[in-house]
Amino acid sequence: MEHFKLRLVASHMLAPAVRHLAFEREDGAPFAFVPGQFIQIHFHYDDGKATKRSYSVGTVGDGSGRVQRLEIAVSYVEGGAATALLSQLDEGGTIDASGPYGRFCLMDADTNRRYLLVATGTGVTPYRAMLPQIRTLTQTRGCTFALVYGARTEAELLYGEEFEAFAREVPGFTFHPCFSRVPRAVPRPHDRNGRVQVALGELGPNAAHDIAYLCGNPDMVDQCFAMLKEAGLPVPQIRREKYVSSR
Ligand SMILES: Cc1cc2nc3c(=O)[nH]c(=O)nc-3n(C[C@H](O)[C@H](O)[C@H](O)COP(=O)(O)OP(=O)(O)OC[C@H]3O[C@@H](n4cnc5c(N)ncnc54)[C@H](O)[C@@H]3O)c2cc1C
Repeated sequence: MEHFKLRLVASHMLAPAVRHLAFEREDGAPFAFVPGQFIQIHFHYDDGKATKRSYSVGTVGDGSGRVQRLEIAVSYVEGGAATALLSQLDEGGTIDASGPYGRFCLMDADTNRRYLLVATGTGVTPYRAMLPQIRTLTQTRGCTFALVYGARTEAELLYGEEFEAFAREVPGFTFHPCFSRVPRAVPRPHDRNGRVQVALGELGPNAAHDIAYLCGNPDMVDQCFAMLKEAGLPVPQIRREKYVSSR
């Protein structure tokens, strides 16, 4: 597994407590990854003990599998060690990283007609990276994609305008934002008020043509997994990435 230094080249706040960070490798080399994969950030606690945290890569590439910018979205956690590091990192600053890791990816061998992509919070990041593949799969295999995305409020709906724009452009892709605390001030046609589980149920998961991807909060992932199994989806048709703390 490759280890490298990353330099922060740009950043902005996506939501009150979520920072989008764009890095480049310090050696100038492109970063190779498959959409859906994550990297690890390596650092030390104040007592000198080494530790690491995982972050999904959210870069929208050109389909070549290599990108110059490695983008992540970091949700701040109260008292979190990586939160302290990544919330205070200035542009030009460097961190140690390794990767890519993981198999939460779209697979060439799949023959399903529809993908159900479910996320809460920063769990939507891998799907952002998958957008070029999603576009291709709607064209080459006629697949459809439903992105069911849970946020507490409109302000916490990360990359919402990007997904809305993609849905307008790619007919096989629909975006279903779910607001669990406060509905959007001016609701849009696919909005749902409530948790992602409700919207997922309304889509009528069906083992005959669906593969589901679940990413983000571990409780949400477990609940949707149980729901999908109950609806008859076999386990290989339910793919999961839980954002568990590695503390
Ligand atoms: C495969 C994978 C991919 C991930 N991708 C992302 C990503 O793209 N973006 C992202 O923001 N995070 C992601 N995570 C979570 C991330 O790795 C860290 O766990 C998270 O950023 C918290 O780290 P921290 O060091 O700030 O907090 P820690 O020092 O680990 O924890 C501080 C305290 O907060 C609690 N805590 C930790 N996480 C949470 C939480 N989510 N909610 C509430 N309390 C919490 C801990 O139990 C502890 O008490 C991913 C995790 C995995 C396993």
